[in-house]
Amino acid sequence: MIILDGKKARDSLKANLMDKIANCIDRPKLVIIQCGDKEESNKYIQQKKKFGAEIGVEVEHIHFLRSVSEKEVIDSIKKANSDDKIHGIIVQLPLPPNLDKDEIIESIHPEKDADGLTSANIKLMWQGNEEAMIPATAQGVAFLLDFYGFSPEGKNVVIIGRSELVGKPIAAVLLSRNATVTICHSKTQDLVGTCRKADILISAAGVPGLVDESYSHANQVIVDVGINIARGKKLEEEIFGKHLVGDVNWESVRNVAKAVSPVPGGVGPLTVAFLFGNVLKMCEAAARRSSLRA
Ligand code: NAP
Repeated sequence: MIILDGKKARDSLKANLMDKIANCIDRPKLVIIQCGDKEESNKYIQQKKKFGAEIGVEVEHIHFLRSVSEKEVIDSIKKANSDDKIHGIIVQLPLPPNLDKDEIIESIHPEKDADGLTSANIKLMWQGNEEAMIPATAQGVAFLLDFYGFSPEGKNVVIIGRSELVGKPIAAVLLSRNATVTICHSKTQDLVGTCRKADILISAAGVPGLVDESYSHANQVIVDVGINIARGKKLEEEIFGKHLVGDVNWESVRNVAKAVSPVPGGVGPLTVAFLFGNVLKMCEAAARRSSLRA
């Protein structure tokens, strides 16, 4: 079985990002807005700051208390929208329940929407427009498949999960790459039978061990997007001080499928890298706009 190593793929992308950043007129800058103190969010933000520092992107972390008002958050976004030195903005999700996620996300200017979650960007993404800012995880999945030579073109791709941030963007990206896409969810009848027909199976359900050998076959490529915390298991790498597992029951599929991405070390490292790919793309677009104005 082939292991789809996301760190190896990420390192090739990282070198490419660093080359491009070295040639940028302005130093790219990302603002991360956090509301509250969720442990997972703290860790994800740490990873983003670390990667930004490694590749030469400035990262500003604006950290509000959980009790912050929607107005305060939106005011900080508007300030970042009008600051020419800032090229990308993300709001770390999930937000505390008292804040309206949609109102807050929509206040990000689409030209600075590094997570690609504003309605303007979602429209461009489904149109297959090259200007779209595509959510990083979806780009990571497509890149991992390409890196290992598994083109989605003409393939029967089944995705488990239909969230705005993960499942739907993966579908949009792979559809634009000429895959035939099926999206499954918690109401799908015959999930196992549908998945077994996939040439490429992508699991983004957030259910540890959901995908086992009954979902798979000898020619199937599986990309495990799930990141779930499982206690009491011995894994090689710890990110949250707890053990991480994906949606795929590795022991069960390893002798059946053609290729599988591991968790950790699969799509996760690519998600961080492609967030910064988006920041770079926005920085380059801002430079083009200002040269047209000059
Ligand atoms: P989410 O919003 O909870 O969505 C989960 C989706 O999976 C929903 O569409 C749900 O169906 C479906 N689902 C759940 N259980 C299912 C089951 N038993 N059978 C079939 N479908 C099922 O989660 P998300 O934000 O999309 O994230 C999904 C996973 O990806 C999580 O583990 C998350 O931590 C991980 N993630 C990883 C990365 C990365 O970089 N690797 C990035 C982001 C997220 P319904 O719509 O019917 O409820």
